[in-house]
Amino acid sequence: MVSMTEAEVLQALKEAKAILSGHFQLTSGRHSDTYVQCARVLEDPALTTRLAQAMVAKLGERQFDLVAAPAVGGIIIGFAVAQALGVKFIFSERQEGVMVLRRAFEVPVGARVLVVEDVVTTGGSVAEVISLIREAGGEAVAVTSLIDRGGAKKFDVELVSLLRLEVESWEPGSCGLCAANVPLYSPGSRRLS
Ligand code: ZN
Repeated sequence: MVSMTEAEVLQALKEAKAILSGHFQLTSGRHSDTYVQCARVLEDPALTTRLAQAMVAKLGERQFDLVAAPAVGGIIIGFAVAQALGVKFIFSERQEGVMVLRRAFEVPVGARVLVVEDVVTTGGSVAEVISLIREAGGEAVAVTSLIDRGGAKKFDVELVSLLRLEVESWEPGSCGLCAANVPLYSPGSRRLS
């Protein structure tokens, strides 16, 4: 497995336009000079495979029997990590707001499970996946993500991320980019592409 430094991961994510620099209005209404759209990485199977291998390399000697990920963000990277590990992959999804395992997916009793997510902020979905694993009698050994947005987490399992990225944001009224008349982009807007 080929390891990557945080600087290499940052560079790869910027090249894939998963991390953009500029002047952005976030969904919160606040402004930022950085925007993260991790799905752009997952457009590229070769890059996704390379990053998944780097995640496995960073996890070191830990042993896993199964990879589990929350839909939708964790599915593609979770599959790639499972492929790199040579183990099975399952995903959870929300049914009427509750995180569940559907499609006859199972966590075998005693299974050592790796939880995979694309971006972890508070890790609410990850915490729910961990609960599902434990309810089934499995062991949540570790969590891995491409990006850790920083801050307190809602789960009690070790997190191994390829990149820690804390993005600053501020109220529009105190935005230096607004003051400098830098064009403002809204995430999801066509102008981003
Ligand atoms: Zn602004």
